[in-house]
Amino acid sequence: NPLGQKYQTPVIPPDWSKIYVNLHQPLHLDIGCGKGRFLWQCAQLQPQGNFLGLEIRETLVDEANILRDQQGLTNLHYLFCNANTSIEPILESLPSGVLKRVSIQFPDPWFKKRHQKRRVVQPKLVNNLARYLGEGGEVFVQSDVEEVAREMCDRFAEHSAFYRTEKDWLAENPLPVLTEREQSTLERNEPVYRALFRLSCT
Ligand code: SAM
Repeated sequence: NPLGQKYQTPVIPPDWSKIYVNLHQPLHLDIGCGKGRFLWQCAQLQPQGNFLGLEIRETLVDEANILRDQQGLTNLHYLFCNANTSIEPILESLPSGVLKRVSIQFPDPWFKKRHQKRRVVQPKLVNNLARYLGEGGEVFVQSDVEEVAREMCDRFAEHSAFYRTEKDWLAENPLPVLTEREQSTLERNEPVYRALFRLSCT
């Protein structure tokens, strides 16, 4: 069906040189960025970095890009896509080595075992991140569902390119900005499960 196709067809990446004023700055990719507030704040805090959000809900992406334009931010972009089908052409189209950080924060809130194949963090996605992350690259994952966090960790830990920086869940968030979901979880005094993976030296 045409709607299904819209989410399954890989996105054609934009001309990045028309989007980022300094295309060769380190890039932070946020997968499943929702309304994009997290990246919007990061982009203002760190003008020496570029920020890219991937989101499967098109209206959120359109609204986030409008806000970005209103603020005149030239180091931030949101792209409507299914990260699972589009990650490869997106990463391939970026200048080599610029991708330095990836965050995957509170994906899959509809956690059910039978939805395992629809999870954002699939072996193919991990493979692509391993291939395209630049030297010193890292992946930060967090969730309020322990099982989801554990599964994400398993996918990264089973790939030889990555190592986990701490055996246990991180006590604190290493990033300077909280996401909306993180904020609401913490306000309810509920736990957040976080982990950081780095590229192993080869
Ligand atoms: N990261 C934000 C936060 O922490 O507040 C949003 C969390 S929200 C619970 C998960 C987001 O991931 C949703 O906006 C959803 O549409 C998006 N998402 C889920 N699967 C996706 C996929 N395959 N590709 C891109 N985005 C996806």
